[in-house]
Amino acid sequence: MRILVTNDDGILAEGLWTLVKELRNIAQVIVVAPDKEQSAIGTAVTLRQPLRIQKVKPMVPEVETYSVQGTPSDSIILALGKLVKSKIDMVVSGINQGLNLGEDAHISGTVGAALQGYLRSFPALAISAPYGNGQHLDAAAKVAALLVRKVTAVSPPTHIFLNVNLPDLPLSKISGAKITRLASDSHINTVEEEGNGRQKCYWLVRQRMSKAVDNETDIWAIEQGNISITPLYPNQSNSSHPTLNNLCSNLVHELQRC
Ligand code: MN
Repeated sequence: MRILVTNDDGILAEGLWTLVKELRNIAQVIVVAPDKEQSAIGTAVTLRQPLRIQKVKPMVPEVETYSVQGTPSDSIILALGKLVKSKIDMVVSGINQGLNLGEDAHISGTVGAALQGYLRSFPALAISAPYGNGQHLDAAAKVAALLVRKVTAVSPPTHIFLNVNLPDLPLSKISGAKITRLASDSHINTVEEEGNGRQKCYWLVRQRMSKAVDNETDIWAIEQGNISITPLYPNQSNSSHPTLNNLCSNLVHELQRC
């Protein structure tokens, strides 16, 4: 099995390499990732300047690794269009340090990169963990590896795009895994002004709305201590999808045995 991995926190991010370390136990891994942090860059693609790629020393031994002067989406397009010669079984993006819930999924570079894999007919997974200690990343890496195994085991290959987020809990305390939809109305954008006269500048500040979120949404699942698994583009992979129901039913039980 061959897995293409990227992220939006940049090629040196701890989340990326925690993920690679875990996926290496089950697959050959190729890393193609932005040379610097690109969080909240969404689906941006670089069209008006050349892209440079550098083969770099991996932080996990023997993993083919390329650094891209571009966005997370650029990385996946370059990887699938040029760098990777042999068959890829799945595209995985993450582990993002910080959750990508509700409206954040639409601006996330982590999700944006996975989308490029999905649009090219590969099963795709974006995975995010709460800010915090390495334990969150270890738990998310285990979740990613288990989902990769389950998704790639389906024959014929399933066309699926999952946005996965973990709650702020150790693996042993996680209640379960829920198939969810993105929460709407989850943020308000406010603009804060700074300085005076000609020196004025502005900050966009994203704040969570305090109102209760609907059941079955990703934010609701996380607040209840569950792993949230959101199939994106649900016209093709909705919550009655047999693969999803299957992979969700025993996920936490299996994880806790890892
Ligand atoms: Mn990020």
